[in-house]
Amino acid sequence: MFEGLSEKLSSILDGLTRRGALTEEDVNAALREVRRALLEADVALEVVRSFVDKVRTRAVGAEVIRSVTPGQMVVKIVHDQLVEMLGSDAETIDLNAVPPVPILMVGLQGSGKTTTTAKIAKRLTDRSNRRVLMASLDTRRPAAMEQLAILGKQVGVETLPIVAGQSAVQIARRAIEAARLGGFDVVMLDTAGRVTVDEALMAEAAEVKAATNAHEVLLVADALTGQDAVNTARAFDGRIGVTGIVLTRMDGDARGGAALSMRAVTGRPIKLVGTGEKVDALEEFHPGRVANRILG
Ligand code: GDP
Repeated sequence: MFEGLSEKLSSILDGLTRRGALTEEDVNAALREVRRALLEADVALEVVRSFVDKVRTRAVGAEVIRSVTPGQMVVKIVHDQLVEMLGSDAETIDLNAVPPVPILMVGLQGSGKTTTTAKIAKRLTDRSNRRVLMASLDTRRPAAMEQLAILGKQVGVETLPIVAGQSAVQIARRAIEAARLGGFDVVMLDTAGRVTVDEALMAEAAEVKAATNAHEVLLVADALTGQDAVNTARAFDGRIGVTGIVLTRMDGDARGGAALSMRAVTGRPIKLVGTGEKVDALEEFHPGRVANRILG
């Protein structure tokens, strides 16, 4: 069984009988455990390194106050640094633009992109009282288009009628036009996914972004992909430019390291998390909760 980092840090540091400032030596033993715990939580190596450096800077020389043990103090420093790097302010979807506001959904196939598109559409309908139109741009997989239409029926959100033979950009333009005529507030565009990052996929999504002037570009990523999440995030952000990340499968046994990695590498906020297969299994991102999960 995984022993939580908090316990490990306590057992290392609470043996210190001295009071006063933590020395580099005290801290180094603890940092080895921090490093190991982050790697076990699937945080990318480069992110682990910068995280550990930041914790070292904060911890060495810090006075241990009387009411806490050295272990508790370092746990708090690690926790606070995690929250800071995960993004302290809760950020949600920005609809502050002239309607219909285009939201582009990007990500790898199987990440949960289509399901998440419907979840967000439902949330905007139910909670923010917006009229949402969804459209699938996956011209190569008719099944993906049908899946979105089925989900739309399930959540009570309209989908753009499917017309065979159109390109992704043509469908996106048609969706925006239909939304304008129909008085919709938001248009959600579910781009095609591929099993791996490939140039054709990126080029198509970039083209759709330019053609629609998408206000939000949300990268949907699977929390269980661990270290790969960083490469995915870097590729999508570098090529297309994302405005936020939705992390799916946080109901699984992922420790949440992907959140830290993706945020650190791209600087883009995690806006929402998927917590199950059901259409309402979507939650706001709470950095404190993820920090606790990583700490164990
Ligand atoms: P896409 O290929 O990226 O569009 O992925 P789908 O939306 O088709 O999702 C793939 C599978 O993942 C489906 O079975 C979804 O129900 C499931 N899924 C999506 N999001 C979550 C989540 O947050 N948690 C869990 N457990 N399953 C999810």
